[in-house]
Amino acid sequence: MNTPDPMALLERVVARMPDPVGREQASLLETELAATHGVAHAVVVSSGTAALHTALVARGIGEGDEVLLPALTVIMTVAAVVQARAHPVFVDAGPDGEPLDLADAASKITPRTRAVLPVHLGGQCGDLDALAELAASAQLDLIEDACQAHGSRYHGRLLGTIGRAGCFSLKDGKLISSGEGGYLLTDDPDLAARATAFQSHWQIPAAGEPALSRLGTNYRLAEPLAALARVSLAGFDERLARRRHAASRLIDLVGDVPGLIPILATSGEQPNGYSALWRILLPEPRRLCRRLAEVGVINSVGTFDLRAAHLHPACRPLHPASCPRAAHAADCLLAVPVPDDDTRLTEIATLIRTEISAW
Ligand SMILES: *Cc1c(COP(=O)(O)O)cnc(C)c1O
Repeated sequence: MNTPDPMALLERVVARMPDPVGREQASLLETELAATHGVAHAVVVSSGTAALHTALVARGIGEGDEVLLPALTVIMTVAAVVQARAHPVFVDAGPDGEPLDLADAASKITPRTRAVLPVHLGGQCGDLDALAELAASAQLDLIEDACQAHGSRYHGRLLGTIGRAGCFSLKDGKLISSGEGGYLLTDDPDLAARATAFQSHWQIPAAGEPALSRLGTNYRLAEPLAALARVSLAGFDERLARRRHAASRLIDLVGDVPGLIPILATSGEQPNGYSALWRILLPEPRRLCRRLAEVGVINSVGTFDLRAAHLHPACRPLHPASCPRAAHAADCLLAVPVPDDDTRLTEIATLIRTEISAW
């Protein structure tokens, strides 16, 4: 793909701003996203959380429905399920720290369960085939939270294109970004039409429905951001290759440190290098992660207070089941977003080695 000149694009978009400009850049972005991911439809929205909420609503999931999701996830996934007015049911991690324990998921399926929502943290997905099989046999939608998984593959297929819908974020720091934004991918024309209707107050009606026949919302992606996302997408292949290389370089540079075990790709996984992942086998791992954050190593526990979702005070009103393995896996996880700059990469590796060795 030719990389569009961002300044020229923005100038054109801004020049048109006094008039309602419609969805010119957003539509072009949708066409390009669908083509590069090999899916029939992409629907662009204003954030990753909005993409998750929109996918659920577009499948008619709401009041009285249950959605299975890993307890080992970020709070945004939970928020999207609650925004759809469905009930999040947390699934524990597997015995070896796999993101989602299949037996626990199967045991939590009820007649109200509509969907299972795996979250590919750090661009890794675990045994997605087995989960897809479980979803198919129980007639549940598989909706992927692929907000950290741009370009990750599983048995050769792109994450976010395996379930009925895959949801992505375009926030700064994600592998394709425009500052803020999101999109969903699907091969289901009905889901795509409803998602398109929902993201703009049902003004662009789904087939067979009059405009404004339902309440939607404003999850539109602003045109200047859609233009910037197109620029980011055009440079994606190169960025992905760099990021993968940098992630394995960071793991190598940190090397063997007692108490720190790299979480490497399992068979079939080809992660995108979004984060370098380790398991910490040392006392007080959360305090260690906070210490790393203090010395400048951004990491999910130390910087963003990642913990198993059922332990968040904000999730208490949901009466979550206890998921002890997910709690432990979150506490022991060191997930470090991989910097694009080689000098910074070397500094981070040294800081991790030094702090862990001294702990
Ligand atoms: C970033 C992220 C989100 C939310 O995306 P926003 O664009 O910030 O709404 C959801 N899930 C995961 C796993 C994320 O990393």
